[in-house]
Amino acid sequence: MPLSLFDLHADTAWAMYQTKEPLGSNSLAVSLEKAKRYARYIQVLALWTSPDLNNEDGYLKLFEMVKNLKNDPSLTSSKAELCSSCPARTADKASLLFSLEDARILNGHIERVEEIAKLGVRSIIPLWAGETCIGGSPDTNVGLTAFGKLAVKKMLDVGMVLDISHASVPSSNDIFELSAAYSKPVIASHSNAYAVCPVSRNLHDWQIDAIIASDGIIGINLYHAFLEKDKKATLDSILHHIEYFLSRGAENALALGCDMDGADLLEDIPDVSFLNRIAEHLLANGYSQELVDALFFENAYRFAQKHF
Ligand SMILES: [Zn+2]
Repeated sequence: MPLSLFDLHADTAWAMYQTKEPLGSNSLAVSLEKAKRYARYIQVLALWTSPDLNNEDGYLKLFEMVKNLKNDPSLTSSKAELCSSCPARTADKASLLFSLEDARILNGHIERVEEIAKLGVRSIIPLWAGETCIGGSPDTNVGLTAFGKLAVKKMLDVGMVLDISHASVPSSNDIFELSAAYSKPVIASHSNAYAVCPVSRNLHDWQIDAIIASDGIIGINLYHAFLEKDKKATLDSILHHIEYFLSRGAENALALGCDMDGADLLEDIPDVSFLNRIAEHLLANGYSQELVDALFFENAYRFAQKHF
């Protein structure tokens, strides 16, 4: 059986908007051409805008990015589809879902949560860097602001899943509490294990345990600096993070959140067409095909069926 792929995080929508390149075939890390080896391909595209833009301009750019995608030749020719809920397992085209990365662009306007939901956004990464109207990111020790808590409740009200990638420890604590009050899971779409690579963007043990306990999922990030702190990241580095997550009971929670087109990837995996190298490395190290399939597709798909 050829591999299927469900990737929880790519910044390709912004890269496409910037470069004016199409999704079908391009110079980016993600394209339909590069993903054609996967039997079934579901990609979560993060709507993220550069911090060089102020909050208002960033908000307006979300709509332009979505419009740019809707007009993409691959969508108009039905090679890919934009989905506002979990797509069919058997679809014969690539399926695209939206997340929002960095909710600073709400800029104090709670009603924008509904406008963003109308775009089809199914999950939200509320923080990104520094302190915003929402709260603190990993480079701070600040939790959610009063507005941030209201915004997170609104996101939960409209059925979005909260994502603690890029949240400070206190912000993640607030997000766990608010999501638990709604009996909703918490995910980390593109974060690795702090115990393996101690950088502030990675997950502490209690966060890993809390995600698993909430029935959430964790996407392995392929940014080299989140895989290894002091040496070159290799396929073994990915294996070490996977092993660690599995040792904490993440066999049903582990997925891929590759961070393509948003981060410098490790040399072994320059783009989405090379992800099979992770599968081959896992199999060569004694892991089962079942585990590989769970990591690449099944865990994220099961979660999406329930919550996206
Ligand atoms: Zn990110």
